Order: sequence, then structure tokens, then C-alpha cells
Amino acid sequence: MSQKFDVIIVGGGMGGMALALALARRGRSVAVVERQARPRPFARGELLQPNGLRILNQLGLLEALKKLPSYLAYEYHFHRIEGGRLCTVDYRVLPPPWNYTLILTPYYLLNLLFQKLEQTELVHLFTETDFSELLRQNGRVVGIRAVRMARSIELFSPVVVGSDGAHSQVREAMGIQSEVYNYPEAYLTMIIPRPKGFHRDARYYLGQGEILGLFPVSAEKLYLFYMIRTAELERIRKGPLDSMLNAIGRIDRALREPLETVASWNEVGVMPCVRVRAKRWTADGAALIGDAAHAMNPHVAQGRNQALEDAVTLAEVLDHAFQKGNFSEEGLRPYETQRRRRVENLQRQADEMALFWNTGLIPLTWLRNRVFKRLDRNDRLRYKMLALIAGESSERFTWMDRVKAAGILPV
Ligand SMILES: Cc1cc2nc3c(=O)[nH]c(=O)nc-3n(C[C@H](O)[C@H](O)[C@H](O)COP(=O)(O)OP(=O)(O)OC[C@H]3O[C@@H](n4cnc5c(N)ncnc54)[C@H](O)[C@@H]3O)c2cc1C
Repeated sequence: MSQKFDVIIVGGGMGGMALALALARRGRSVAVVERQARPRPFARGELLQPNGLRILNQLGLLEALKKLPSYLAYEYHFHRIEGGRLCTVDYRVLPPPWNYTLILTPYYLLNLLFQKLEQTELVHLFTETDFSELLRQNGRVVGIRAVRMARSIELFSPVVVGSDGAHSQVREAMGIQSEVYNYPEAYLTMIIPRPKGFHRDARYYLGQGEILGLFPVSAEKLYLFYMIRTAELERIRKGPLDSMLNAIGRIDRALREPLETVASWNEVGVMPCVRVRAKRWTADGAALIGDAAHAMNPHVAQGRNQALEDAVTLAEVLDHAFQKGNFSEEGLRPYETQRRRRVENLQRQADEMALFWNTGLIPLTWLRNRVFKRLDRNDRLRYKMLALIAGESSERFTWMDRVKAAGILPV
């Protein structure tokens, strides 16, 4: 079997499906090749930032999304595990209407997109289909070979987009040199009933090498994430579930009762954290988006939002490529040029946060707590940090900002 499309997208996650929708709205025929049969529920939550919300609105999805279980959060409260508030960040200081976050189980968003694509005539969903290789003619990518129900299929298009996640096979097939870094920390994730009295918005607890996050994901449910050392994952999972739940309940007593609803390890998700730095995101007849191009540490909560930004930017660049009939690396490069600096800024910011937030070293913990407290008192610095993480600015902290935040110079 072989078929022709305007664009083939490998990977039907957030980035791939958003790109398919954006392209179909521009009148392009799209094949989405996805390994899974359809999105599956998973015990985790995620945060959509103002930049992602703006794009979902453009794609006509935001209002439908808000009708699904989700939680509109303005405030994020940071506390020391040992006790005491460190800082409160309030999104309401950002320019409206994009001055809030939406927290939800990503399944609802993925399923909404999937249903939308199922109803879109120009989109052909090849589910339960595994990408195997890129097809080339005179060195240029012209299609893919994939396996569907134990059968090999060939699909052709002038451009193939790799949206197949951090461990992208398309990236490898494009021959792009890349660095894939596995962070030493991962997260255990759970969805539990929202405890009585949990009326304040999202909450982070930071300790010495310990992080607990609590995000409401609906009126009744709370998403909980607890940092562990990846190297200890096997030992922890072989041990009794109770000792891990007790460690969490020790941080916030209000969680003890809702944690009793977690009956087995099957209800606990494991999320490793990966960073990808790819030398290029484009080739002759091919491009990478989302985690395939630039997975980042989750502390900035931007991975999914950046995949959305990639999707709308690439859709626009592909419009020009179709007009000019130019799908060469040079023709696709404006996509990378528009996106790379912003993404690299976020990757660096995320790594800096991982260094200070995850640390088990007393001097770094002390410095981190001090910076949080100073940010709490300094509207300018807090705004600058928030605008970057909210995706509303690409301006990182300067050295002078850092020195001021650390309290070495007066603000
Ligand atoms: C702990 C943690 C917390 C996070 N929290 C947030 C947050 O709050 N906000 C945020 O914006 N981001 C967050 N992220 C990041 C976010 O989850 C990712 O950036 C996002 O899922 C990337 O989307 P994607 O579409 O690029 O890739 P993916 O979601 O990885 O999708 C890739 C798709 O490709 C498919 N696929 C893979 N290989 C093949 C193949 N060979 N053939 C066919 N299909 C294939 C997969 O089945 C999958 O559907 C977090 C990440 C972690 C680890």
C-alpha cells in the first residue's frame, strides 16, 4: 500500500496532532502516524501556560477544553518542606486575557485533539502504526516506511515531520547529531482526591533533595508529583508502597487521608526527565518538532507549550514552502531560526532551576531559599521570572539580576 499526502507527521502526541490540525485548517492533507491506538489515561497532570493557552485558543480548542475536567490556577505557592512559606507567584500580574494557567490531566487534551482529527477530512490517522525508516530520493526525504498490523506500508509527501518524542527515531533517521541527557531525577505521579481544606491554588514543597508538588486538576482531584532519584526507582518500587506514601504524608498532613485511596503501585506513574539538544531541526524534506527537537527539564512546565509553538510556526513556514515548492533544508530553516533561541533560553533556565531546586547540598539549598524569599519581596525580578516561565517573554535573568536575587547587591 502507498499513499500521497502534503505532509506526513510521525507521532500523534500534543505537537504532532496540533500541527496536523493547523495544517488541515490551511487546506493541507496530512497523514499522522502513531504507534498507539488512541490516547490513554495516565496518572498525571500538566500545566498549560499562557503561551500554550493562546495557541489552543487560535486552534479553536480552548473553550471545549475548559469544559473538560481542569483547574484554572492563578497562584503558585512555594514552601520549605521543613516549614515556612518561601514565595508566591501570581499569574494575574501578566497582561490579560492570558494571565492564568490551566492544570489538567493531559489525556483530556490529547483525546480532544484526537477526536477533532478523526472528524477532519484532510487528516488521515494511521494508528497502531510504527515508523521504521525514511524514504529518500537523491538524498532528499520523500516519505516513510512504517509497519501497520504486521504489514509494511509506504507513505509519500514532500515533507516529513518527526514529532515522535525525546527518543525520536525520525531524528536518528535524519542523521542529526544530538545529545540526549537523562536527568538523575524522575517523578512519581498520582491523582488523588483533593483533601479537605486544600483551597489555595497550586503548591510546591522544596526540601533538601526532596520536592513535592500538588496541583488541583479538577474540583475533586489533585495531581501529586514526588521527586525521586532515578537510580533508586527499582529499589523504591520493590519496597512497600506505604513507606513512600508515608514519606509524602509527612510533608503535608492533609494528604494522609486521600493517600489512603492509592491501593497499589499500578496507580503510581513514573516520569523520567530527559533533555534533548539536536544540532539541527531541519533537513531536505524533513523537520523535527516538540520533544524530538528539544525536550527540556519539566521545572519550567513548558515542553507541551513549546511543542504547540513549534506546530503553529512550522505550519506557517510550510505555507511558504508550498507556495515556492521549496522543501529543502534552506526552505524549512526559517522555522528553526524563529524558534531555537527561545527554546534554548528555556532549556538553560530549566537546568538552572533543576540545579537549585533538586539539590541535596546544604549551601545550595540555603541559597535557593534565600533567592525565593527575595523574589517574593521584589516585584520586578518576580515578574521577569514569571514572564519567562509563562512563555510571555524570552528575557532571561542577567548576571546583575542573579546577584541581586542572591542578596549580594541591594535590589
Ligand atoms: C515530569 C514531567 C512533567 C511535565 N510537565 C509539563 C507541564 O506541566 N507542562 C508542559 O508544557 N510540559 C510538561 N512536560 C513536558 C511534556 O510532557 C512534553 O514536552 C510533551 O509531552 C512533548 O510532546 P511531543 O508531542 O513532542 O512528544 P510526546 O508527547 O512524547 O509524543 C510522541 C508521540 O510519538 C509516538 N511515537 C513515538 N515513536 C513512534 C514511532 N516509532 N512510530 C509512531 N509513533 C511513535 C508516541 O506514541 C507519542 O504519542 C513534563 C514532562 C515531564 C517528564
